[in-house]
Amino acid sequence: MQTIPTKHWLPHPTSPLIIAGPCSAESEGQIMDVAEKLAASGRVQLLRAGVWKPRTRPNSFEGMGKKALPWLIKAEEAYGIPFVIEVANAEHVRAALDAGIRHLWIGARTTVNPFSVQEIANELKGRDIPVFVKNPLNPDLQLWIGALERLYAAGIHKLVAVHRGFSTYQESVYRNSPNWEIPIELKTKFPQLEILVDPSHIAGKRYLLKEIAQKALDLGFDGLMIETHPDPDKALSDPKQQIVLDQFEAFLDSLQERQLHFEDSIAINQLEQLRKLIDELDHNLMENLKRRQQVVEQIGAYKADHGVTVFQLERWRQIIKDRMNFAQANEIDADLIHAVWNEIHKASIRIQTDVVNQKLSS
Ligand code: PEP
Ligand code: MN
Repeated sequence: MQTIPTKHWLPHPTSPLIIAGPCSAESEGQIMDVAEKLAASGRVQLLRAGVWKPRTRPNSFEGMGKKALPWLIKAEEAYGIPFVIEVANAEHVRAALDAGIRHLWIGARTTVNPFSVQEIANELKGRDIPVFVKNPLNPDLQLWIGALERLYAAGIHKLVAVHRGFSTYQESVYRNSPNWEIPIELKTKFPQLEILVDPSHIAGKRYLLKEIAQKALDLGFDGLMIETHPDPDKALSDPKQQIVLDQFEAFLDSLQERQLHFEDSIAINQLEQLRKLIDELDHNLMENLKRRQQVVEQIGAYKADHGVTVFQLERWRQIIKDRMNFAQANEIDADLIHAVWNEIHKASIRIQTDVVNQKLSS
């Protein structure tokens, strides 16, 4: 895919690229207020607002629909910054384009569905409309790439990816798990594809936004899409994660920008990107080791309560056999796995012995 960089089609491209606006368009007044203030800040290249909201549960606010489109056009004309909105089917595309909207995004709940993505791609065929493609809900890089490829094949070459985190069943501080290794891998596969990060949907809460936005810049991503609302606590959708509009500039000021340009990041930074991928994979390994350690502690407590010895030869034989079989089947270096599990098992015995001793002495 030879996507066309934003600097060739955005009216005022900057690095990093900033897209901001409310989760949902709620009223003409709200849209005019947001557009006026963000335009005055001079920091935002595109405004965002959801018109049709894909909600997890029925009976939630599902967006103002078509009637919000003229508000966005009016604000665009008054303040000179274009809006980007979410479309989930061909009808949305037609309504948006008929109203004069020129930038679209595909949401996470749509990217998961190749039928929907293809329907949108077919509707856009032959039109010169930039599309921002959010990652699918589930951590599946191929599905994300597939959506980009469907649009690219329909002649949409002004494409940008948006990383908004991934659903997990596991409890986490994040609303959507960042899995940074996935967008990093996307970047290593398609170095010319720009990738924005959406800290709002990753964080799910205001206090985490800065950490995620900073990490996005530190990792060399190309910009941010951030939800901001004049009065977030009263927002009709995503009230906990939107930044107060009046605090938006201060928020941007609090971030440290890296001096890296997109072109440099392609030419010089393949190695750096791959190293970041390794860093993320190592962090994931360590999170799993931490979870394993917690389970080991529970096992230690159970053994102490039931008078069972810490070291169980049969169980250890079974573990090492299973891990070596898994390594062989998955072409993982056998010596490495053998050495690593020996250490893991040693640590496990030590941790359980500590738990048992603590229980005996208490
Ligand atoms: C949104 O941006 O408001 C939205 C619904 O995003 P996502 O598709 O990432 O959940
Ligand atoms: Mn939202």
